[in-house]
Amino acid sequence: MESSLPEDMAVASLLLEKILPKTGGALRIGITGIPGVGKSTFIESLGKRIIDDGKRLAVLSIDPSSSVTRGSILGDKTRMETLSKDQRAFIRPSSSALTLGGVTARTRECILLCEAAGYDVIIVETVGVGQSETAVKSMVDFFLLLMLAGAGDELQGIKKGIIELADGIVITKADGSNAEAAVSAKNVLVNALHFFNSPVSSWKTPVLTSSALTDSGVSEVWRMILQFENHSKASGHFERTRSAQNVSWFSEFFSDLLQADLHFNESLKEVKRKLESDVAHSRLPARSAAEKLMKSYYEMIRNSR
Ligand code: GDP
Repeated sequence: MESSLPEDMAVASLLLEKILPKTGGALRIGITGIPGVGKSTFIESLGKRIIDDGKRLAVLSIDPSSSVTRGSILGDKTRMETLSKDQRAFIRPSSSALTLGGVTARTRECILLCEAAGYDVIIVETVGVGQSETAVKSMVDFFLLLMLAGAGDELQGIKKGIIELADGIVITKADGSNAEAAVSAKNVLVNALHFFNSPVSSWKTPVLTSSALTDSGVSEVWRMILQFENHSKASGHFERTRSAQNVSWFSEFFSDLLQADLHFNESLKEVKRKLESDVAHSRLPARSAAEKLMKSYYEMIRNSR
């Protein structure tokens, strides 16, 4: 599924069609937060609750740095050691290979594969930088934001509106000398969220505190997620969101296919480079350049018939 060879991609599409009836059964949870907020430690604790509940768990990560720099914010150290040794859990770090649709498309397909393989809960983890939170939000049923007390709200994404994407927020590391600060941070957030209406009717985004170190507050988070699942299934929000996510995935994939056509066709690439230079030097308006490129694209399709 992760291969970018055309022959493998054809098999991948066939496989996805075949497994489709067996997909959709898992609860998909997105977890985000800045590096160091405690994501992997938290997922270890939460994951233990989930498998103790008799469920099979898959953890996938989206690392926006890996496809850009080929380095990785999430994957370098050994993460989630206990979970990774447990037979009931499957952990797949983000690989840096570039495939059609990028890391996002691959993760979505991996979700489907895990569902067909019988996993009941899928956690998609991402670092809260760049656009990856929005990407994760677009593929999960519940979106959890982890925050630190006193780490600077702008840095943690309040400005970027991540809070409005969240279905639940957890202040991590609520232990030792940090316990009090965590409770104040929670109160500030509860107040800030007072005027915010969640898109899920009559759901008020809960703010909880937890410590993976003392193992406190984690069961409460799991209960909150299950409560949300019940709530959003009962109101029809769950199904509506899934359908809308599928439709937007289809559109994105179609755009990606068009881009790939451009990207892999040498003569079109040449035309594009020339037009880019014309636009850069103000010899041609951007609109005309785009129209010319479209024309060359149609010609290429006609000639290939
Ligand atoms: P990530 O980068 O968001 O995945 O964060 P990690 O899970 O790797 O944690 C970053 C650091 O915070 C590590 O040194 C952890 O030991 C520490 N940490 C994680 N959870 C807790 C917690 O609940 N309490 C305390 N005091 N430290 C924690």
